[in-house]
Amino acid sequence: MKKPNESSHEVDGFTALELVLFLINFAVASYIALLGLRRYGWIGFVAGFVLGFILLPTCILAMVWLRVMIFTGKPSLPKCGNQRCEARDYRVIRGTKDGFLYECKCGIRYMKEGRQTYEVLPNGEDAAYMEWRAFKGWFPIEKGKVK
Ligand SMILES: [Zn+2]
Repeated sequence: MKKPNESSHEVDGFTALELVLFLINFAVASYIALLGLRRYGWIGFVAGFVLGFILLPTCILAMVWLRVMIFTGKPSLPKCGNQRCEARDYRVIRGTKDGFLYECKCGIRYMKEGRQTYEVLPNGEDAAYMEWRAFKGWFPIEKGKVK
């Protein structure tokens, strides 16, 4: 669902950011195509344009993927303490200055701060739960590493 105030940033179905990225992408592709044309003729032009066009999106996707694999976690949340709920089963309760408070379908609440998750006990205290290790997965937080 879009919020009403977001519509002003749209240009014919594209967001302004997408349009800018497309234009940059087009410029990069054109530049590489011209380099290809000079060196290899028309085949170089076509190959350069295709290569140039997939280069930037590939780099952006790679950066997004790296960011997820290093900082966010994939899946974005570990299985819940009952081993029943997956990341998609959580709902956001609220955001805080440190992270987000989630609740799984069993009703257990978890705080995610960066790469670490804490179970929020009914008395309001935090209990160390799982941490994301870059490229490795979710692991229980070791004792002594609790914030
Ligand atoms: Zn659960």
